[in-house]
Order: sequence, then C-alpha cells, then structure tokens
Amino acid sequence: MTESSKQGLSTRSIHGHSFTDAHGSPHLPVYDTTTFTFKSTADLLDVVDGRKPGSLYTRYGLNPSIFAIEETLASLEGAEMAWSFCSGMAAETALFLTHGREGVICIGDAYGGTLELLANQLPLLGIRTHLILGNELDKLDTLLTGGGKLVFFETPTNPALELLDIRTISAKAHANGALVAIDNTFASPVNQRPLELGADFVVHSATKYLGGHSDLTAGVLMGSKELLMPVWNWRKNLGSTIAPGTASLLARSLRTLVVRVRQQNESAQRIAEAMERHPKVSYVYYPGLVDFPGHALAKDQMYGFGGMLTIEVAGSGEYATRVADRLKLFALAPSLGGAESLVTQPCTTTHHGLTAEERTRRSISDAMLRLSVGLEDADDLIADLEQALD
Ligand code: PLP
Repeated sequence: MTESSKQGLSTRSIHGHSFTDAHGSPHLPVYDTTTFTFKSTADLLDVVDGRKPGSLYTRYGLNPSIFAIEETLASLEGAEMAWSFCSGMAAETALFLTHGREGVICIGDAYGGTLELLANQLPLLGIRTHLILGNELDKLDTLLTGGGKLVFFETPTNPALELLDIRTISAKAHANGALVAIDNTFASPVNQRPLELGADFVVHSATKYLGGHSDLTAGVLMGSKELLMPVWNWRKNLGSTIAPGTASLLARSLRTLVVRVRQQNESAQRIAEAMERHPKVSYVYYPGLVDFPGHALAKDQMYGFGGMLTIEVAGSGEYATRVADRLKLFALAPSLGGAESLVTQPCTTTHHGLTAEERTRRSISDAMLRLSVGLEDADDLIADLEQALD
C-alpha cells in the first residue's frame, strides 16, 4: 500500500497532539496529580457536565498527559478518538464489555490472554464467545446470524504470522450487522492501519511496539467517537485508565516509533532470508518472503512486513529448546516489540496453556521459535542464530 493523507506518520508521532506546555517543554510533561482544582463551582460543573473540555480527575482520563497521548495515538491510526488503558488486556476487556455483549467471534490465533478471557471469563457473564481458526471462515456466516456481534482478530497472527483479510472480513461482518475489532499490536500503525481497511476498532497492547523499550505496560482502543463514547464509562468504573507517568513515557516512545519499526522490518527481512537458506531451519514464517502464503495479502493491506518472525527448526522440540537456550543476543522472554531481540518457544510460553492436541489443531509445532527482532545490528543477530543452530 502507499501512504495517504495529511502530514507524515513521523511528524504526527512527534506533533500529533494539541497540548502546549506553559514552560516550553518540548516533550509531554507528567501531570502526576489525582485531581484538578477549579476557581468556582460553576467552572467545575462546566467540566463535570461536559459543557467545556478540561481536566478533572485522573481515573476518568481527564488529565492533560492522558489527553495528549490519546490525541497522538488516534492521529497515528487515523482514528477519530482513542482511549488509553493501563494494559492491552484492560483495553480489550472494556471493548468486549461495551460492544461484545451480543457475542464475540474470534478468528484465528490471538494472544493467549485474549483467548483465555474469551473462553473462560466472558462466558461466566453470559457472553457467548466463538473461537474459530483462520481456515474456518466458512463458519462465519452462520455465526454472524442474528446481528449485533463483535468480530475480533489479529493479523498477522501469533506465532504463525497468518494473514487475515481485513477488507473482506469487515465487509462480511458489516453486511450482517456486526462490528470488527483488530488487535494491531504485531503490526503497529507503521505497518498496518486497519481503520483504513474497514475495521471499526483497533486495539493495541502499547506494552509492545508503541512503548518499544520493554519499560511500560499500557493499552489503547481506537475508533469513531460514536463507538468509543460508551466505552468511557466502563474504563472509568473498571478503573483501568493509563497512569499519567506511563502516558508521558509512551509519548516519549512514540517519537521514535516510525524509525524503530522500519529498522525492525528491515532487519527481520534480512534474518528471514538468512534463515530460509539455513540447512537446520525447515520453515520460516514471515510475510515478507515471496513464497510465504500470506505475502500477496500482506503487500496489499500492510505498509511493511513487521519485526516478528517464526522459524521452525529441522529437528525435535528438544533441539528447538537447546537453540533458544544457546542464543546470546536474543533473550529468552515471552514479550515482543522492544529494542532488544527476544526469542520464545511457543509451546513452552505463549501457547503452553493449550493441550498438545489443540496446539496441533492450530499448527503450532514444538519445533517453532518465535523471534521479536530488536534494534541490534542484523548481522550480529544472524550470527547469533547461526551459532545457536550449529
Ligand atoms: N495483544 C497481543 C498481540 C499481545 O501480544 C499481548 C501481550 O502479550 C496483549 C494483547 C496483552 O497486552 P498487555 O500485556 O499489555 O495486557
């Protein structure tokens, strides 16, 4: 896809909010205060009753650090509005409780915590949830019957980087009176902007690429004002708003988002190509490889192929564990999107909670290693993988 609209993404990542600091600080200050004072009851009531915008109480999200980060995040995804949260899971929970009460249909592999929430917790509240695989889209028509449902998916998926067609699924969902939410954590707005492709919501674990330094936990939900306004009360009363200090740290991170992600895309492509040639690697899952099944769709709906890839080693699960343990630059940890490269063996971490049969059904083999490519030199990362495989 080609870039569209107004100012460029890098400019918006730095100047994407209307906040100006009275003292001239070029970066977003932390308004580390729980409440805000007013000169009169009339002024207070203007804000409480929504007649005037203004800061009021931090848990409500009415705090300048929070306003500014939400404006920047909305600008990056091309959304009308954004609400920020204390974690990605908090953002998803508020979304499901507001817009998923008629039922949630989750397509393909999603983050383990999301699957757990959908399979175990939401049904306790009487919310019907349906989990289908990416190759079971023929079930969608029946599941959508009755309308009012929320379709939720990630693309590319974890750990097999499966591509799901945002335009086609959104059109089908809308034709059946459903809404569509995409978890865009893996791609980041640099590589994919689902709202441009017809989705209604974008949700992120900002803990990953948006934060980018493995030093903050946050989430964000974006979409139209009409769809986001009802979420506000859930966030307020669940008490799951982002903290002002985290909002300011996230604003710091967003200023380098574009250069970080583009560098990670470039390194991941080089690593994927090197791994494709390696005799001890049997398969490389990466949308940037021309022979990868999702390549054409990725080219169509993404601006870049991302910093996540999965290799399947030519050998047993034990061999994959030994490779993971021998890596020196790739640290063994289940997160992603930071400046440092990370490796996980899905069967021992992200998908450890699934039975072996369920992992097989989802084509997740014990020989898979998922790599989150950081900002080290690509040559060093390739050398690290080669020494570990050999
Ligand atoms: N979505 C994806 C794709 C994730 O990988 C994660 C966490 O790993 C989450 C959502 C949940 O985010 P958080 O840990 O910020 O709650």
